[in-house]
Amino acid sequence: MSYRDVLSLAQQLSVDYLEGLDQAPVAAVVSLETLRARFGLPLPEVGMDPSLVVSELAQQAEGGILGSAGARFFGWVIGGSVPAALAADWLTAAWDQAAVMYSTGPAAAVVEEVCGVWLKDLLGLPQQSSFALVTGCQMAHVTCMMAARHRLLAQVGWDVEAEGLFGAPKIRVFATDIHHGSIHRAVKMVGIGLNHLHSLPAEQLVDAVRGPAIVVLQAGDINRGVFDRFEELIPALKAKGAWVHIDGAFGLWAKASARYRPLAAGLELADSWATDGHKWLNVPYDCGYAIVRDAEAHRASLSHRASYLTHAGDVRDQLDWNPDWSRRARGFATYAAIREMGRTGIAAMIDRCCEVARLIVDGAGELPGVEVLSRPVLNQGLLAVGDDVRTERVMELVNAGGEAFLTGTTYQGRRAIRVSVCSWQSSAQDAARCVAAIREALASA
Ligand SMILES: *Cc1c(COP(=O)(O)O)cnc(C)c1O
Repeated sequence: MSYRDVLSLAQQLSVDYLEGLDQAPVAAVVSLETLRARFGLPLPEVGMDPSLVVSELAQQAEGGILGSAGARFFGWVIGGSVPAALAADWLTAAWDQAAVMYSTGPAAAVVEEVCGVWLKDLLGLPQQSSFALVTGCQMAHVTCMMAARHRLLAQVGWDVEAEGLFGAPKIRVFATDIHHGSIHRAVKMVGIGLNHLHSLPAEQLVDAVRGPAIVVLQAGDINRGVFDRFEELIPALKAKGAWVHIDGAFGLWAKASARYRPLAAGLELADSWATDGHKWLNVPYDCGYAIVRDAEAHRASLSHRASYLTHAGDVRDQLDWNPDWSRRARGFATYAAIREMGRTGIAAMIDRCCEVARLIVDGAGELPGVEVLSRPVLNQGLLAVGDDVRTERVMELVNAGGEAFLTGTTYQGRRAIRVSVCSWQSSAQDAARCVAAIREALASA
């Protein structure tokens, strides 16, 4: 049984898939029942030829794969993968390193050290900050909140790593009312609890903050891509002793573009930042980044030393900064993406995605009956077509047509079609195809 046959087959299937994306329907075209019937085989008693496993896998999945790797997928906030990052991810799987620490994967540890330096540079964040490459922005929130919890409680004489939160002074979390649901889950995971999460309009935030507090501000909200006013809020919040955390899952990347950087002015004054590689940097899933100004708090909250582990002296062991233990060496893909595009290429991609979002929203906005609820300030826009039912109907028709893929939201009590552009491949031509698909959907809705 050779690796060569099965890996060559996987390569061929992957390339055929990616090269066919431009002509293929963007939405899935098979039903839940079909997928269950195809995959739901009895547990095999005996094994089979690996090439056959792989070729059948591709057949079983066919039609059940969303075209999010392609250029006209505008649903949720999901990016594609630039070629070098995808290839690096294949190598990562082949190398199969347990990226726990330097001794379990030397190159993986060092590539992460470099990714940290590069990311802080690209995003304009303080270089002395610590960082972690995690599975996504959700776990980046958890990582940052663990550091915050450590610092806020240490300041009032409580050792949270030893005592946990039983009997601890209360920590409150405050967030502006444009925060994302992943904040709720992070608040649960770090043991603070949803009753201690207060969501407020930005104008009321500073006055409301009291006691040991984590304040979450938004860089790019999921409906409109808008930003909290960091320059004004962060100094006032810091003056009250709060730990300010930024959810910048995609919006933090505005910092990488000279054109959009002003939207995020003052964001670098915060204490911690969470963002994603797998959305706007176009790195394969899964990949998020946590960055923490107070490296000592970050390390104290997660570091673990045990006699059976081999800690090398002068290196960065990921275990000291990451919530997980064994983990994927996801630094390779990030490193490859940054090298493929470079600082200017990343800025150009950010600008291009924003431009494509604007072209779609403006183009659709000229069609009869289409209302622009939010013109993109970044890469997100909102459209409506008459009432909620018609809006949903038009969106379903676009997705069923297969030319583009859009998802919905409720904004100010109304259903809206979100236009969200994160792919390195999306072009003005893709925007035109999306607008044409909306025009067609309107005709039959
Ligand atoms: C996607 C998203 C998250 C969650 O990020 P994951 O990478 O999916 O864990 C958090 N905040 C915002 C604004 C997002 O768009």
